[in-house]
Amino acid sequence: MVKKLTKLLEEKLKKELMKQEKELIKRIEELKKGDPFLDPDHVTDNAAVDTDVREQVGHETVQAQVLALQRKLELIRSAFKKMLKNKYGLCESCGKPIPVSRLKLLPEARYCVECERRLVK
Ligand SMILES: [Zn+2]
Repeated sequence: MVKKLTKLLEEKLKKELMKQEKELIKRIEELKKGDPFLDPDHVTDNAAVDTDVREQVGHETVQAQVLALQRKLELIRSAFKKMLKNKYGLCESCGKPIPVSRLKLLPEARYCVECERRLVK
C-alpha cells in the first residue's frame, strides 16, 4: 500500500521547495555575476585572442549552468502550481500518486518512477 501524501507532509515539502527556490535564485544571480561577458573590466577591443576564447568558454559554461538551474526552478514553480490545484503528488502522465518516499527525495518530481523512466528514455 502506497503511503498517502498528507497535508502536513505537503506543507513540509512546500517549505523545502521554497527554500530551494530561494537558493536557486541566489545561485543564478551569482553565476550571472561571474559571467566574464558581464565583467566590468571586460574589454573587447584590445584583448588578446586567447583571452577572448577563454572568456567565450567561460560565458558558455555559465550559460549552461544557469540554464540547468532555471530548469530546476521551473520544476519547483510548477510544483507550487500543482499544490494550488490540489494536484501535488500526482503523476502528470498517468495521474497516479507519486510515492511519498520519492517526493521526499525529489519534492519537485512531476512523474512517478515508471513514467519518468518511460518519458526520459
Ligand atoms: Zn505515472
